Amino acid sequence: MAVIVGRVHAWPTPQVPQLPGFPAPAPVRVHDSSTGELVEAAPGPQARLYACGITPYDATHIGHANTYVAFDLLVRAWRDAGKDVVYASNVTDVDDPLLERAAATGVDWRELAASQTALFCEDMTALGVVPPATWTGAVESVPDVARAVADLVESGAAYRVPLEPGAGGSTPELGDVYADLTADPRFGTVAHLDREEALATFAERGGDPGREGKKDPLDPLLWRRERPGEPAWDGGKLGSGRPGWHIECAVIARDGLGLAAGERFDVQGGGSDLLFPHHEMSTSHLRVLCPGPEGEPAGARTHVHAGLVAYQGEKMSKSLGNLVLVSRLRDAGHDPMAIRLALLAHHYRTEWEWDETSLPAGEARLVRWRDAVSGNGGPSADATLAAVRAALADDLDAPAALAAVDAWADLSLAPSRDTSADEEGAPGIMARTVNALLGVRL
Ligand code: ZN
Repeated sequence: MAVIVGRVHAWPTPQVPQLPGFPAPAPVRVHDSSTGELVEAAPGPQARLYACGITPYDATHIGHANTYVAFDLLVRAWRDAGKDVVYASNVTDVDDPLLERAAATGVDWRELAASQTALFCEDMTALGVVPPATWTGAVESVPDVARAVADLVESGAAYRVPLEPGAGGSTPELGDVYADLTADPRFGTVAHLDREEALATFAERGGDPGREGKKDPLDPLLWRRERPGEPAWDGGKLGSGRPGWHIECAVIARDGLGLAAGERFDVQGGGSDLLFPHHEMSTSHLRVLCPGPEGEPAGARTHVHAGLVAYQGEKMSKSLGNLVLVSRLRDAGHDPMAIRLALLAHHYRTEWEWDETSLPAGEARLVRWRDAVSGNGGPSADATLAAVRAALADDLDAPAALAAVDAWADLSLAPSRDTSADEEGAPGIMARTVNALLGVRL
């Protein structure tokens, strides 16, 4: 595989056909993980989404695919509803786990990141996922993040923490930089965790509550100074180093979505393990970075989280090694559309387990749907199109959408059925519906 090191480039956009009755009449509503309520995902004519991207140190597993297919459904439903969709995302192409994996395997971290990012693009292309309009790597965002962190230090919303001996390159007197969470009175309003839960989750998910010199154990890292053997970039007044993960996403979201001061965007998305601390912290950074003139809260209006996929009884994770990789399934000859259907059989918010029945069920459904749309005429597709739209508008209920198409396929394939009311072109409308709204090419 040719590896290009540098800026990240998103994969090609699949063709999304326009459907009869465009724009869809009902607004798309989603479950807001912050409030537990079903809310209109994008009240205005524009729909702005930021979905957190991958850290490219292991190829796309079914859990990643499940998350990006979920947000792809949102993008497709919004487009069908006539929204002007602005979708931004990132690739965390420098971070601790990536560097650890590179060191453990003896691969240059840049090559590891570039090759895994390329593989992710291939997987997303195969799965028919609409790419983000702006897709930004952590490395290319370093100058912007460094400027943002310097501003936060300047305004008193961030502070330096002294380094251990040997760290900090030629300017060891400049410490690591942490956000002072007291600068944001709304901190905690994304995940609503109590102090004890917050501290435990922070420690469990990459935080450093025990770091000496912090004002508060929960304060998150904004700028990590240069360490021996680690890559570092010129951070101007901050000294050499690299960005923390939460501030990286905040700055990429701000710039990728073109957020003005105090401006909110519609949906912040990711896997459910990102709710805290990642989305709590990155939202807090956005509020402090770009407050409105009247102190309006910046950040996402709605937080949407996809459930995690388990395998062999445990959460699928790189550290446990129980990964089902999309690329491996593709290499084994499985149709990516069957993989997509296997994912869509579960509501995006559920926690479920991939097992040996998942893919065969997706394959059987794909074969049946392809059979059902193979004729020139067939049962009217109008009610099914309306049902698929309604299902997606109701918190992206893919299983309900699949059931509606299954019912149409059953009718279409029923032996010795009455064909007198068949409509010419109905199978074509059904195929376009499934393609446009569910991303399944028949
Ligand atoms: Zn993020």
